[in-house]
Amino acid sequence: MNRFPTFIDLKARKTVIIGGGAAALAKARLVIAAGAEPLVIWAEIDAATRSELADNAELIEAAPVRADLAGAALVFVAVDDAAAAERWAEISRSVGALVNVVDRPELCDFTTPSIIDRGRLTIAVSSDGAAPVLVKRLRADIEALLPANVGALADFTGRYRSAVKAKLNAADRRGFWEAFFNGPIAALVLNGDERAAHEAMLEIINRPHTKQDGVVHIVGAGPGDPELLTIKALRLLQNADVILYDRLVSDEILSLARRDADRLYVGKAKAAHAVPQAEIEQTIIALAREGKNVVRLKGGDPFIFGRGGEELEAVRAAGIAVFVTPGITAATGCAAAAGMALTHRDHAQAVTFVTGHAKDDTEPDLDWAALAALKNTLVVYMGVTTADKISSQLIAHGRGRTTPVAIIENGARASQKIIKGVLADISALIKAGGIQGPALLVIGEVAALADGETLLGLAAEQRRVA
Ligand code: SAH
Repeated sequence: MNRFPTFIDLKARKTVIIGGGAAALAKARLVIAAGAEPLVIWAEIDAATRSELADNAELIEAAPVRADLAGAALVFVAVDDAAAAERWAEISRSVGALVNVVDRPELCDFTTPSIIDRGRLTIAVSSDGAAPVLVKRLRADIEALLPANVGALADFTGRYRSAVKAKLNAADRRGFWEAFFNGPIAALVLNGDERAAHEAMLEIINRPHTKQDGVVHIVGAGPGDPELLTIKALRLLQNADVILYDRLVSDEILSLARRDADRLYVGKAKAAHAVPQAEIEQTIIALAREGKNVVRLKGGDPFIFGRGGEELEAVRAAGIAVFVTPGITAATGCAAAAGMALTHRDHAQAVTFVTGHAKDDTEPDLDWAALAALKNTLVVYMGVTTADKISSQLIAHGRGRTTPVAIIENGARASQKIIKGVLADISALIKAGGIQGPALLVIGEVAALADGETLLGLAAEQRRVA
């Protein structure tokens, strides 16, 4: 550590900016965001700077004199002329101010870090001028991991600090706040529901020794490519105490989770339910009752053929706080990876998602007449084993034998495979292509647009070049 980081209250301090151009404006914005009303002095102040600062700074459009600096705590020197910058740095220092000279670290008493500003919560990153681009990238990484409402969470916590202090001794306080941040109240604040959060807080503050429940997040993991996770899903994975995941969740995604989170596989091997649904729900509830931050991670979107709805109801009925984070569903993920717009306006007015799953060896229970009549895009999930029945029923109900189809296996993953053909041949295509799943069937004119080879080839090419 070359310089000592500290946070200064500028509201009651005199802050001076010497300069009238873009660099001066940038520094003025910075200190104004922290509540300062800076004094900006220079013989010529840009029109843009003047109009932007008219209301929240004091402007003196004249050559600065030493007396202007009297009592200043901080002075920013933002002038082009190197000799003038040095002179003003020296004068400022001689009146007792700390000095920052733009782009001249050797003349600086203090430097300004890269700032992540979330209200009360502020994060400052600095490499002491050594690697500004690295700092910018780190800042972006940190930004992505911070919940948008984390400033509100800091405020919320600040309001209850003394009340909690009055009720609990120092040793218990730590546990209380740990449970708080893991639990439903913090999740409510982060979701923007402060009213419910205050109600819940008042309740636990009046019985601070009772064990707090944890919280459950039902989270969509997308089709497999970790970059298709939402920022929120990533953050929840990094906060989780325990993750219950399915077969469709890729290893790359799991590897992004907090390292010491417990991982429970509750997926279904084909034809064998590894863990019955009711048991999954009971496990989720029991873990939350232990105070755990539980993530139920599901492939794609939890509410598209994912039984997320049932889990939501069960957890809610148990009185546990539960939140849902959507994911990119297989249909939209595969469509993007195959360069095939599901509702391309030249070919389809609507898209329908159905499941081809059938109990035992029977036929999927679908309204064939309605599906055949739609003549739009039909996306079939879990339809590989019943593809022959699906195609013959659709044809029997009037859909053309030569309707284009695309079978997309492992869509949006490195192992993606796309096979194209016509509806009448769908099961032969699946057999010939050795499709094992997970795979989607896309039926309709847009299927002819699927162009996986090109897109994947392009991605491989880009990786090679990078
Ligand atoms: N909730 C998931 C779907 C679960 S059902 C979602 O929204 O995507 C499981 C079916 O989804 C699989 O049988 C397959 O049809 C489809 N699927 C999931 N991921 C897929 C992928 N990467 N490529 C192709 N199909 C996929």
